[in-house]
Amino acid sequence: MEGVAHLIEKVPEDVLGICRRLRENGKRGWIVGGCVRDLLRGQPAKDWDVATDARPEEVMRMFRKVIPTGLQHGTVTVLLRGVHYEITTLRGEGAYSDGRRPDSVEFVDDISADLARRDFTVNAIALDPVDGHVIDPFGGERDLNARVVRAVGDPRERFGEDGLRILRAARFSATLGFEIDPDTERAMGEPRSLVTFRRVSAERVRDEWLKSMRAPRPSVAFEAMRRTGVLGITCPELLEAVGCTQNKWHAFDVWGHVMASLDASEPAPLLRVAALLHDIAKPRTRAFSEKTGDYTFYDHEKIGAEMATDILGRLRFSNDERDRIAALVRHHLICYDEGWTDAAVRRWIRRVTPDLAPDLYALALSDVRGKGRDPADEVQAIERLRERATGLLAAGAPLGTKDLKIRGNELMKELAIPPGPVVGEILAALVEVVTDDPAENERSRLLVAARRLYDERRKSDG
Ligand code: ATP
Ligand code: MG
Repeated sequence: MEGVAHLIEKVPEDVLGICRRLRENGKRGWIVGGCVRDLLRGQPAKDWDVATDARPEEVMRMFRKVIPTGLQHGTVTVLLRGVHYEITTLRGEGAYSDGRRPDSVEFVDDISADLARRDFTVNAIALDPVDGHVIDPFGGERDLNARVVRAVGDPRERFGEDGLRILRAARFSATLGFEIDPDTERAMGEPRSLVTFRRVSAERVRDEWLKSMRAPRPSVAFEAMRRTGVLGITCPELLEAVGCTQNKWHAFDVWGHVMASLDASEPAPLLRVAALLHDIAKPRTRAFSEKTGDYTFYDHEKIGAEMATDILGRLRFSNDERDRIAALVRHHLICYDEGWTDAAVRRWIRRVTPDLAPDLYALALSDVRGKGRDPADEVQAIERLRERATGLLAAGAPLGTKDLKIRGNELMKELAIPPGPVVGEILAALVEVVTDDPAENERSRLLVAARRLYDERRKSDG
């Protein structure tokens, strides 16, 4: 008890209460999985999972508020003061024939058998918070101290059973900052593991990508995915970047640049997905320019937005997420210089939309910081654009027809315009006028401009 007393102090009273209640009923309760790992690392645990030798029906009888979340897998959720705790009956596991779910669940009485089906040694430690007993049959604590992700048991077997574990290993190595044990990594890339991996659903790949994006350096996970071959299965487009050298502005090839940008990005997962994909079309658009004597990547942002849309659709990102990330890729090149007039800044805001602008500054900053060159000048340019755009927005810069001080129906009445597309065209032209000079956004001045535009149009129509 001595050695773990300081850990047990950190276990919430309600979790301790659950384990005590199990004991009073002649059963045992252990905390298991991520929460034990995080406790031992001295990190706050996210959620508390309890394993027990009581059967689900017995657990249901011991607590007042229970939800039978996954009875066939032995999981019951206990609700205490609004918090959910998952209590899962110890289980061994039958054969995996589909590479995702075991064919049968077999309840067992031995905690070690339950730990044996878990993925990595650091996730296969149990702690009985009532008596302070730690059960660690696979050297999880040793690997925590050595900062190693190691499969439980024979790694070839384990990745052959469940392909998701390959992504989990990559993810944990990034979120924990651990190395993957060489034997484990070798097994991740074995043909049989990759065959099993192909059966992992796109949704689960997406979820693992997003969880990896919360790591201090997500590149650690994506490098592991690349080395083992799973990245080539989920996103072969990204591999085109490997070895794709750039030009004098860049110290790294496209892959190295993308990884550096990813790590330099703010830790918002979707923003980081945008950083991962921002140069996705560079390899396909790369061309040598005789004029500059260097490589160019014309239109890579446009083609990149299309490729990102395709990739994110495949990975079952929501339509909103997909469209937002594609828009970030589309507009990631910020070519600001001090020569821009206010009208040019307003045009830029209109094009990218005010909603997207903050993420674009962030993406552009991670982009320039990922070049491996002194980023000071480019950082300054982005900051200047941000300052000016923010100022112009605060001053109420008109950005669309809804901001015009005149409505379409008023135009029709004042200028006797018959219904038709011409009203919309004049309004669009007026938006250009007020973008150039917001002082023009006044009813009488807009009417004058509209009249002129309408006359010009009728003349040209003959
Ligand atoms: P996180 O901090 O992401 O929640 P976690 O380790 O708690 O990490 P969960 O997905 O919540 O991960 O799973 C809880 C536990 O269940 C793991 O610690 C591990 O012991 C076991 N586990 C989860 N997924 C698998 C899997 N695919 N194969 C084997 N064991 C798994
Ligand atoms: Mg968890």
